[in-house]
Amino acid sequence: MSDESDDCLFCKIAAGDVPADVVAQTPTALAFRDISPQAPMHVLVVPRAHYGDIAQLAAAEPALLADVVALADEVAGDLADGQFRLIFNSGPRAGQSVFHVHGHVVGGAELGWTPA
Ligand code: IMP
Repeated sequence: MSDESDDCLFCKIAAGDVPADVVAQTPTALAFRDISPQAPMHVLVVPRAHYGDIAQLAAAEPALLADVVALADEVAGDLADGQFRLIFNSGPRAGQSVFHVHGHVVGGAELGWTPA
């Protein structure tokens, strides 16, 4: 875990210090609705611990990444039809704006495919 978590929005949400619409949680991970939804279901899944992006998380704690993916699957089963897209933007040019790893769980509709 890096020490960049002091001023991290998603660390604050995970700690309960910033409000969020939490839809599911486990001891290691949290799922909350994106503040600007891009699909009928648009939830963010994050590890409680601070890692900057998916590669850093996968290298340091692969079991924790598996927890995050399992939580995405659970949320999609609860809020949609169990089918979902899980997107991890990694780096500013890929669209990452919050540097605490998070997966976008989107679904609830037929999804297009126009990332660029
Ligand atoms: P990124 O652009 O892949 O880093 O995704 C960051 C996401 O966080 C965006 O989709 C934002 O809409 C979302 N977001 C930013 N602030 C909040 C918040 O306070 N609560 C929930 N979602 C947020």
